[in-house]
Amino acid sequence: MSWNSSALSDPASDAGSTPAPALRLRQEFAGLGPEFHSTRAPLGLPGPRLRVVSEEAARLLGLATPDADRARCAQWAEMFSGNDAAARGGAISTVYAGHQFGNWAGQLGDGRAHLLGEALTHDPTQNGGHAWWEVQLKGAGPTPYSRRGDGRAVLRSSIREFLCSEAMWHLRIPTTRALCLVDSDLPVARERLETAAVVTRLSPSFLRFGHFEHFSHSGQHAALRRLVDYTVARLYPQLADHANPALGLLREAVRNTAVLIAAWQCVGFVHGVMNTDNMSILGWTIDYGPFGFIDAFDPGYTPNTTDAFGRYAWARQPAVARWNLLALAQALLPLIGDEQAARDAVEAFADDFMPAMRDGMQAKLGLGAARDDDPDLVQDWLDLLAACRADWTLSHRLLTDVVARPEAPPPAAFARQFAAQAQRLQDWLQRLRLRLSGLDAAQRAQRVEHMLRANPCYVPRHHLLQQAIAQAQRGDFGAVLRLHRVLRDPWREQPDCEDLAAPAPPDAGPPVLSCSS
Ligand code: AMP
Ligand code: MG
Repeated sequence: MSWNSSALSDPASDAGSTPAPALRLRQEFAGLGPEFHSTRAPLGLPGPRLRVVSEEAARLLGLATPDADRARCAQWAEMFSGNDAAARGGAISTVYAGHQFGNWAGQLGDGRAHLLGEALTHDPTQNGGHAWWEVQLKGAGPTPYSRRGDGRAVLRSSIREFLCSEAMWHLRIPTTRALCLVDSDLPVARERLETAAVVTRLSPSFLRFGHFEHFSHSGQHAALRRLVDYTVARLYPQLADHANPALGLLREAVRNTAVLIAAWQCVGFVHGVMNTDNMSILGWTIDYGPFGFIDAFDPGYTPNTTDAFGRYAWARQPAVARWNLLALAQALLPLIGDEQAARDAVEAFADDFMPAMRDGMQAKLGLGAARDDDPDLVQDWLDLLAACRADWTLSHRLLTDVVARPEAPPPAAFARQFAAQAQRLQDWLQRLRLRLSGLDAAQRAQRVEHMLRANPCYVPRHHLLQQAIAQAQRGDFGAVLRLHRVLRDPWREQPDCEDLAAPAPPDAGPPVLSCSS
């Protein structure tokens, strides 16, 4: 293990003002052995500019944010672009493999990610109480795993990853975090010429199903065992005494993934590229590419234009997650040793997913504990939303008003979503009213409270991201900063933010994105 504590010691602290703690990094993953990683240093960015910082993510590491202090902003920009010599000294990139769109893709690896090391958290109450947080640069230059890629990330996709991963965390959905975004005038060629940026990501681990697949399918079973032991010790210490740690690990991955996907479904998040190399062994959201939040509800919606058959569409995410878990089970089989036990562990996906999904929808609709007829009521609601292409986020949020004031007509903005099926809406609302008719005033108020915590007002809608990106590409980060601020509190209506809660304008068209980032 190597230590690097020189980075980010605050020059202001020498002058006697508030001292910022140094980012003290250790590089434990490298200790697993040379077959797990390579050490090509980040290239960094010319003329780096610090654009956005997540205060909450910085707090995790005990870092004081630089705010408007120019010297400290410059220091952050150097550090989190990969320019800082001390920080880049210990950087590694890891090797993994994966199944992409259902096909074995062979060896992949961090093609543009550099792991600087891991830092001890200063706030162990956050994010599941993980003690160590890996600090990773995305887009700081090529690695031995870049294949034909340039190792860069463009500003557009870096803004999307920064805003969405932080938004997801505030939506209480397990996710890697984004510490900051640094950009540069460095040109990067995609469908058109764009500019480069680096997002610094944090996670207790960036291990993917694909890491296990790599060592399994290349016959490196001793390394696979070391990887499983490392993962158990670090991420799943409750399995330390498990008779079959690989089986225990699989079972935990199944459980966490199932709960994650239920959360995605409920908030209308579509990942877009659920390849096994984009599936975290923690069961957290990772690798924000062509993701999308559903606006007009269509169960077959995918934001990814390269996904012609809708493999990763909203409705298919649970089945795909299970498929990916089967791939993980296959990879772990040499250690598990018992095919039936591995199969059973994956079959438990439904036992974890179904109740989580049920509870999520019960909360969104204000139904409380499930009753026999509730699955029909929920399904008919989903069918109605789909028939009307009603806005997912807005319809659920406004349903809270309907439940709060059962005697009043539904809000106009709500009714408008269902204009195509007005009678069907009335019939369904009648069933909902009947279902909730036994509640007294206090119980109803409590139900509404729960609904407000299950139905966000604000999500990173595609058209809002597009607007903010277009501005940022002209050098104005005002809209990015505004979105970041509002998405930190997605549950509460905020003043002067009606535009951020509104559906996409009709001429915006369905949000679609390519994989290029
Ligand atoms: P993704 O589809 O973003 O999950 O990426 C799949 C693989 O391609 C991963 O191994 C990435 O590290 C790699 N990759 C994606 N974009 C680039 C890039 N611009 N340069 C190098 N490697 C990349
Ligand atoms: Mg990826």
